[in-house]
Amino acid sequence: MLALLLNLRSTEKGFKAEATIPYVERSIELYKLYGKSAYVSKINALEIRLANLSGKHIGLCYPFQDKIELDRDFWITATDAEKEEVMLHELGHCVLDLDHSEPFSIMQATGTLFPLYTSLYQEFMDEYFDCSIMCPKVEWDGSKYD
Ligand SMILES: [Zn+2]
Repeated sequence: MLALLLNLRSTEKGFKAEATIPYVERSIELYKLYGKSAYVSKINALEIRLANLSGKHIGLCYPFQDKIELDRDFWITATDAEKEEVMLHELGHCVLDLDHSEPFSIMQATGTLFPLYTSLYQEFMDEYFDCSIMCPKVEWDGSKYD
């Protein structure tokens, strides 16, 4: 565990806020499980921070800065499943270049799917990882994406 933490924080990899590391690690496990190991280095390179995001934003991907910001108040109060879902959502933008999908997708635009996320977990995973091939890619036209 310590070795992995040090590894994530080594110079060639992007900074990860301590509270986000378990969800980064879990996401990497899922990416590997679903045959997306090629994206792991991109996840490792991302900078992932907690920040005080404005409005209703709970997460933001900055595609041109290889950076994700997660709302600090959300992160402190969210359930384990919600944090996993939001991490996967932002990685969907920043790593897989996915656009939003509606309505029953990890890439849906607003809030979280919890508790549906846990009861239909397998379906959401299949949709998310199939989506990395089949769904329309986002056309980056702004500096950030929520
Ligand atoms: Zn989004």
